This record gives sequence, structure tokens and C-alpha cells, in this order.
Amino acid sequence: MFQEKNKKEARGEPDALARRMPQARSRVVISRCASYDRRDLSLALRRIFDSLGGLSSVVKQGSRVFVKINHLSPSSPPERAILTHPSFTREVLQLLSDSGAELTVGDDIYSRHPDGFSLSGYRAVCDELGVRLVNLKETGFVEVAVHGKVLKKTYIARPVVDADVIINLPKLKTHSFAIFTGAIKNMYGVIPHGLRLAYHRRYVRNDVFSQMLVDLFSCVPPQLNIMDAVVGMEGEGPSAGKPKKVGLILASRDAVALDAAAARVIGYGSSAIYTTVFADERSLGTADFRKIEVAGERLEDVVVSDFRHSAVAVSFFKRWLPSVLYAYIQNQLTLIPEIRRVACEACLECVSICPPRAISLLDDAACIDESNCIHCLCCHEICQYQAIKLKQLPLGRLLRKGDAVFKKASAILNKRT
Ligand code: SF4
Ligand code: SF4
Repeated sequence: MFQEKNKKEARGEPDALARRMPQARSRVVISRCASYDRRDLSLALRRIFDSLGGLSSVVKQGSRVFVKINHLSPSSPPERAILTHPSFTREVLQLLSDSGAELTVGDDIYSRHPDGFSLSGYRAVCDELGVRLVNLKETGFVEVAVHGKVLKKTYIARPVVDADVIINLPKLKTHSFAIFTGAIKNMYGVIPHGLRLAYHRRYVRNDVFSQMLVDLFSCVPPQLNIMDAVVGMEGEGPSAGKPKKVGLILASRDAVALDAAAARVIGYGSSAIYTTVFADERSLGTADFRKIEVAGERLEDVVVSDFRHSAVAVSFFKRWLPSVLYAYIQNQLTLIPEIRRVACEACLECVSICPPRAISLLDDAACIDESNCIHCLCCHEICQYQAIKLKQLPLGRLLRKGDAVFKKASAILNKRT
């Protein structure tokens, strides 16, 4: 692994990454897109780029552009809606290639297959377009200083640090641990896989983990974010949920505003998602709809009222309760991974990914030592046989129902005002 100090910072040069901050007034463009058909995608993306002032406002001839997809490991076919759909990325790349920019597409993925990008279709797409596709674990990482709430330094993939422009292509999904995964969380993939596991081990509370995600995001804020919400994922995302047709593409230069809008589409208020709240508090973008201009479709017209959330929705409680009580409630809401032995194929993926080594193989099936589990849910994320289900304590389930009722009532009241 390549390591060096953040040389620009050491030399006192202005931080190139800091110049990527969003403009004062944030525009989020929402466009309907019925399918991953090339015509539908092309029309929607052209509408979006026009509304954002044209691609030339972001990408110049010869710019080194890094396109961050949400790929996730292990690789999966696009119809499972775990990853940014390769057809969506293909159309973005096609439009970008007209700009004369030097394009690199990538993510940090873990795969037993020699080429983790083949099953997902990414290898075929990038080969066809002649675009460089990289697994970040093979390109080296650079040590960078972080002036964060949690992190003081971290390691960022070299193609990301070297890029003049970062274009972020998140997928609209729920997340069993972070509640929602969008533009901010997608940048978590630019650090090494092993470090991600270490952070999961170290920052076990959702709020602290989310501060860490925002620390990371502050190092690599993208200039443009285009979210694949044509088919999202509901329920227990980011990998074990169900595909859900949403029929939208959302885009913004401000990742925070984009996440705030996307969260609303699936029924969350801005204050429900820690990463959005913290990034807004640190002025890394805005989640305040008085400062967001929504163009294209009206937000209230595209809300998916039956979008199923993950079982850790706790937004209702966090503002009102003393911290001791809130910590207790969070405990009750914790999701506990449980192996379905009949479905387990003993592939050992969960064993090797578990940060505290809490999983072992027992009689040809995985077995979790609950006393060592830190509830990072990495095992649930990686199991491709859906052999790990998540359970919740009875009080947790009850509280969650209360939260759902509260959200429905709030949505009705918000519509009336
Ligand atoms: S639980 Fe899933 S990931 Fe773990 S060994 Fe069984 S099949 Fe593999
Ligand atoms: S058993 Fe699963 S949830 Fe628990 S620590 Fe290991 S990977 Fe994380």
C-alpha cells in the first residue's frame, strides 16, 4: 500500500479538495426515469445536465475525473438493486466522454473471483466504452490528515486524491445500520476495506459512526452527485433488502441537499439521517429546504409513500430524550444477526469479514458468538444466500411501530401546512 503524508497540506498549499465545496444556493434536480432503457436514461440525464448548467460547468477537457460507483461486495447482478446500475453508469459515462475528460470508474471491492466487476456487468460496460475501471484496493492509498470530529487521519484511494473532479453515483437504498445510504455514505468506499472494518469495530454507535462518515466525506466532497433511484432498495439495505421501483434520478452539486431530498422521497425528514444532519451542521452543504431549490419534478409529487424502511428507524426519539434513556432505547432497537442454518452454504464470507471474529463454522454452518458481536452488520451485508436474518428485541419492535405511526402523522401534517 502506498502511503504518504498529505503533501499539499504539509507545504501549506490550499487544499484542492476544499475547493470542491458546493455553491451557496443548492439546486437539486429531480427527473423521472421509467427504466434502465438507454433512451429513458439518456433523456433524463440530459434534462438533468441542462438544468445544472451543462456538463462543461463541472468537467473540462482533459480533467481527470473519478466516477465513484456504489458497487458493494460481493459482486451481484444489477437486478438485485444492490449496486449503481451499470446501464445508468454507462449513460453517465457516455455523456461525460463527449467532454474530453480522462475518466476512471471505481470502488473498493472485496471479491474471491479474480475480477469482481464481471458479474455486476461493470467490466463489460467499461470495456465497451474504453473507460478505465479500477478496484481501489489495487491502486494504492494515500495517508491524508483529517480535521474531523472523529478522524484525525485516514487513507484515501490514490485515483480519488489525484482526480480534478469527483462524480459520485450513489444508489438510493435503506441501510440497516446507518438508516439510509446516499451520496455522503457512498464516499465511505474510497478507503481500504480493512480500514472500513476497523472503523465499524471502533465506532459502534450510529451517531459516532455517522460523524466518522462525514469526516471522510469532508476530505473528498464530490463536485457532482447523480443518484440512481430508478430502482432503489427498501427494507434491510444495503444488500438484503428488496428492489423497489422509484422511477427517478436525482442530481445536485451539493451531496447534502441531494441526500436530504432523496430521504424525503422515501419518507424520512431531514433530521432523521445523522449524516445529513451532521454535514449540514458543518456547512458541508445544506439540508435546509429553504436554501434548496428543487428543479424538475416537485418533491411532493414523487414521494413513495409505501417505501419500507429498515428496522432501525429511531428518528422519533433522538431529539427529545435524555441521552441515558436514548442510549437504552438504541440498545433495544439494535439489530441482532441470526444465522438461518438451513440456508447457510458455509461459504465462509461472513467468517472472514466479521471485524471481532465473532463468527465461526460449526457443523457446516456459520455460528455467531453474540457476546463478541458489535452489531456492525457486515455479515448480513456480505451473505449472498440471505442466510443471516436480523432480529430485534420486543420493546425495540414496539418502539419502531410507534416511530412509524409518528412519521405517518408528521407527513400528513406537513402536507397540510
Ligand atoms: S451465513 Fe452466509 S456468508 Fe456466512 S457462511 Fe453461511 S452462506 Fe456464507
Ligand atoms: S457477527 Fe456480524 S454483526 Fe456481529 S460483529 Fe460480526 S459481522 Fe458484525
